[in-house]
Amino acid sequence: MRSHPFSLIVAGVSSLLVVLALGARTREAVPDRLVVLTFDDSVASHATFVAPLLQKYGFGATFFITEGFEFLVDKKHYMTWEQIKALDEAGFEIGNHTRRHTGVARQTPEQFAADVAHIEQQCEKHGISRPTTFCYPGYQTSEGAVNLLRERGYRLARAGGNRAYDPSTDEALTLPQAFDGKPESTLEQFKAAVALARDGKIAVMTFHGVPDIKHPWVNTDPEKFESYMAHLKEEGCRVVALRELEKFLPSIP
Ligand SMILES: [Zn+2]
Repeated sequence: MRSHPFSLIVAGVSSLLVVLALGARTREAVPDRLVVLTFDDSVASHATFVAPLLQKYGFGATFFITEGFEFLVDKKHYMTWEQIKALDEAGFEIGNHTRRHTGVARQTPEQFAADVAHIEQQCEKHGISRPTTFCYPGYQTSEGAVNLLRERGYRLARAGGNRAYDPSTDEALTLPQAFDGKPESTLEQFKAAVALARDGKIAVMTFHGVPDIKHPWVNTDPEKFESYMAHLKEEGCRVVALRELEKFLPSIP
């Protein structure tokens, strides 16, 4: 007995609907004007200036914590773990930027694993949720580091670059930044980076201190930073921490 052609069409359409429904459940569509703010190197101004300003706007952000540079001895220019804990409690994300801030390609797998684990242990010790996002010191990546991060349960890791992040084509553990705040960066450049956040792409922004007294080459002037944040508000951007992008990752087969 042959199936009626109509029932074949019904079967075809319903299996297509099942596929669409499964797809929608595991992976959300990326909205336009989605912006991620990230702040590297545990700079004191993250706690004293950046976080209060972001709270005023209702923006999320990720603070990538390292104990490198003079973190352990200079508590004027670097945050204390109590300040980092306060950021976590305020709803910001604490991400892992390694213990010593060494380029991952220059480390043995054991050294890299130990430096990643150290920040996780410090977070645990201070009652901060275990980091699930990572940022490569000096933006240097390696295949070994990517594999280790995956094994340890990391979902998203920011590298360098100068382009928007497309979750459907870019590897989530080496995702690019669209903007890297420097003393010479301009509001026009920031606006251009924000404009990339469309058609499935996300603009991930990198900053260091605002200001950054100890690393003047990555300094962002507070007044300029305020103009950047005002632009995000004017554009009606959704501004989130990196971990919020997990729902846009392709479904794991
Ligand atoms: Zn760094």
